[in-house]
Amino acid sequence: MESLTGWGRTAPTLARVERPTTVEEATLAVLAAGPRGAVARGLARSYGDAAQNAGGRVLDMTGLSRILDIDLPAGTVTAEAGVSLHQLMKVLLPLGWFVPVTPGTRYVTLGGAIGSDIHGKNHHVSGSFSRHVSSFDLLTADGSVRTVTRESDSDLFHATVGGMGLTGVVTTATVRLLPVRTSLMSVDTERAADLDELLARLTTTDHRYRYSVAWIDLLAKGGSMGRAVLTRGDHAEPGQLSPAQRRDPLAFRPATLPAAPRLLPGGLLRPVTVGLFNELWYRRAPRERRGEIQKISTFFHPLDGVPEWNRVYGRNGFLQYQFVIGLDQERTLRRIVERISRSQCPSFLAVLKRFGQGDPGWLSFPAEGWTLALDIPTGMPGLGGLLNELDDEVAGAGGRVYLAKDSRLRPESLAGMYPRLDDFRRLRAELDPAGLFTSDLARRLRL
Ligand SMILES: Cc1cc2nc3c(=O)[nH]c(=O)nc-3n(C[C@H](O)[C@H](O)[C@H](O)COP(=O)(O)OP(=O)(O)OC[C@H]3O[C@@H](n4cnc5c(N)ncnc54)[C@H](O)[C@@H]3O)c2cc1C
Repeated sequence: MESLTGWGRTAPTLARVERPTTVEEATLAVLAAGPRGAVARGLARSYGDAAQNAGGRVLDMTGLSRILDIDLPAGTVTAEAGVSLHQLMKVLLPLGWFVPVTPGTRYVTLGGAIGSDIHGKNHHVSGSFSRHVSSFDLLTADGSVRTVTRESDSDLFHATVGGMGLTGVVTTATVRLLPVRTSLMSVDTERAADLDELLARLTTTDHRYRYSVAWIDLLAKGGSMGRAVLTRGDHAEPGQLSPAQRRDPLAFRPATLPAAPRLLPGGLLRPVTVGLFNELWYRRAPRERRGEIQKISTFFHPLDGVPEWNRVYGRNGFLQYQFVIGLDQERTLRRIVERISRSQCPSFLAVLKRFGQGDPGWLSFPAEGWTLALDIPTGMPGLGGLLNELDDEVAGAGGRVYLAKDSRLRPESLAGMYPRLDDFRRLRAELDPAGLFTSDLARRLRL
């Protein structure tokens, strides 16, 4: 038995971890799972308990990490589910192709990307990951492997993308890629002085960029409440590069810094210190800068440069709260930002984005609207009550919280947030009557 947590390092549980390197080994591990069942795990970048299974089996899929086929004319890649987006970028960028959607870390697996139906800074243009998946192979509870496409098996496709590993184990998948001419980004940065200005700018100018996100200072109060730094960009064209950069325009060389210190003194995570950090971060950003050339790793994955940065939150760990509410719910968004700002929640990392139209995955998170994500140390006094209040606001506005980030939602809040939940439960009951696939998240939320 091994002790496992998600990225937030909260709620460790013990499970027997299997490390299959072939589909046959994965099948044997699934068929031998006892009454506590099994669940797949990728690189454990989900924050909470989605890839844990107390007392049961966990299939660490990172040993199934071969790239099986790259179809250059068609622009597709077929790979095993344990391949990471980092591995894919290393191989595909020099060939002029990029992953269609990347989250804020490239250390996620293909299986995890499908299991959570992840989104990136390009959601308003490209939708979520599943939009680019043409097929996947799924190992189901009876030990058979099915090839699933949205055309051949629409229900199973849409239950699996965003289905948090609960319909089975994805073993391989084929994904459509994005052609790029360089591995660099052309980035515009600007500040917004308050929440109204931020929302107005995102609404009126987001469509000009493939990628868009705003870092928001949730500790700022009064007239500066919701002040933010917007970073938006596109893949750079060769003509935008310096002569030196043009020599190897598709190079992929992310930098790595030393690992983060294991334990940061607790005092650094207090509102006053985080407030100072936020102040500096905001002031340091240019008022307006256009066309800065950045590496892909700098633009998309700044935190990946610091290995194990999740340890800075200390023994108690941290959680991430991410929700989405409709574009017509700006008043609710304002109330939520006010509520967080009043609570003096010590969050360094808070991002706001405008999602485009959602995809039809039954438990997929993105829906057209505003999405806010913030990291919070779990030691914050009154945190449980605050987040329950926010859940009620979000549910009342017809919104939802993101399961891949969740570690504390109440099960009764779920049905209103995910209207296809009953269909999901019905399909699972047919496909897997003994409930072989399960996880700590599934038990906690009665999925
Ligand atoms: C710094 C950081 C930034 C992030 N930014 C974003 C972001 O911008 N957008 C976003 O959407 N998410 C974001 N995330 C969350 C992350 O993208 C998801 O949690 C993703 O699912 C992690 O992939 P993983 O391989 O680590 O999966 P895990 O965390 O190991 O598993 C996640 C879920 O997928 C299931 N799963 C894993 N492998 C398989 C498989 N082979 N078959 C079936 N199910 C499987 C698991 O059972 C589990 O339910 C971020 C996380 C971090 C740490």
